[in-house]
Amino acid sequence: MPTYQLQRGTYDAYDDDALNLDKLQEILKATVSLYGFNPIITPIYEQTELFTRSVGESSDIVNKEMFSFVDKGGRNISLRPELTAGVMRAIVTNKLYATRDLPLKYYYCGPAFRYERPQQGRYRQFTQFGVERVGVTSPLDDAETIIMGYSSLLMIGFPRVTLKINTLGDEKTRDNYRAALKEYFAPHIASMCEDCKRRFETNPLRILDCKDPQDREIIAKAPSMSEYLSDEEKAYFKVITDALERFDIPYELDTTLVRGLDYYSHVVFEYHYTSDDGTNLGAIGAGGHYDNLVSEVGGPMLSSVGFALGLERLNSLLKEIKQEEYEKPFLDCFLIYQGEECQTVAFDLAMMLRFNGFKCDLLYQNKNYGAQLKVATRKMTSFAIFVGEDEVKNHRFNIKNLETQEQEAVAYDDLVAYLDEHLEVHHHD
Ligand code: AMP
Repeated sequence: MPTYQLQRGTYDAYDDDALNLDKLQEILKATVSLYGFNPIITPIYEQTELFTRSVGESSDIVNKEMFSFVDKGGRNISLRPELTAGVMRAIVTNKLYATRDLPLKYYYCGPAFRYERPQQGRYRQFTQFGVERVGVTSPLDDAETIIMGYSSLLMIGFPRVTLKINTLGDEKTRDNYRAALKEYFAPHIASMCEDCKRRFETNPLRILDCKDPQDREIIAKAPSMSEYLSDEEKAYFKVITDALERFDIPYELDTTLVRGLDYYSHVVFEYHYTSDDGTNLGAIGAGGHYDNLVSEVGGPMLSSVGFALGLERLNSLLKEIKQEEYEKPFLDCFLIYQGEECQTVAFDLAMMLRFNGFKCDLLYQNKNYGAQLKVATRKMTSFAIFVGEDEVKNHRFNIKNLETQEQEAVAYDDLVAYLDEHLEVHHHD
């Protein structure tokens, strides 16, 4: 038999990791639904051109990291490197902008694919949770979305989140600023890294994103975006920062923040986590405002704002922060029996308990009482319920509290009430 290996850059999640990833999604969905966001689900692959047009040809994601192929019908297909483009395409394909109230408010959660060099916490298949608010008319739309992301990160357990935020102005402002950057970088570009050289030609704004320490010295002296903003753009941005201040959200204005994607305008932001000793552990989520994306994929001009979070990164950081607090799997009861007749009764009893909302399990392996009890304990069970011949005859079952080792006989008709009362702690979680 051949053996199969896990593909480079992918991972299997099981036990705590799988549970935690699940739980994260649950909390994030619950939080954004408080703001009136509903789910949208789109395919994991699309026409390649959708991504080259919307994510942008100058972005690393499209340039170097797409999983692209030609299908059997000769179509150019790519696995989605992010989910926004597909959501925008779905909004246009289904004319949601014309048939629903604006703004549209959708959240998504699913795999994205980037052919990255696998490194700490970077995968080739990873999971993004994000939101898109399409058809926004006020900086309050942006403010609310940014606060919602912040609050979502607190809800999933980050003790401290700080916000890096910047405004890129509108297209005209960015054109002027790009021209100024080109003029500034022209005498330096020959000594800068290959990425910067490429960005100098395709989108000089992205040079500000470069992490090379030598390049950063040159970047530090570049003209600042703020000198190019109109009064209107400044006022727009102020509504957002004022809202952040009203809610005591710690933010830092970072004028070199441009984000990796080409489509942003006005506000862009990143959520950062700082550890106890004040070390910034990097971005845990990011987003921004974009004006052209819906029109870029064939719809009308509609301004939008959104953010995306990488679930694997959130999970690995949260594991470090709150190790023992993470919920472990548990069972309310485990049915223990011997013999065929009792097995049927145990089977039916387990079903009844599950229909009543209890987490319940049993084995069909002819193990003796002791062995079954061991499994029950390993599976973190609260109560063992013994289904012996006498018990079946009398319709009374011995229930053992596996924590205190106390045992009581309870009539069949009282079982649900008994468990409800004694499991109150779990069920109120
Ligand atoms: P981006 O779409 O690049 O703005 O990323 C949004 C979120 O996805 C970030 O919070 C990242 O942590 C996460 N992310 C991006 N690329 C990867 C990757 N290759 N593996 C895991 N998470 C990723």
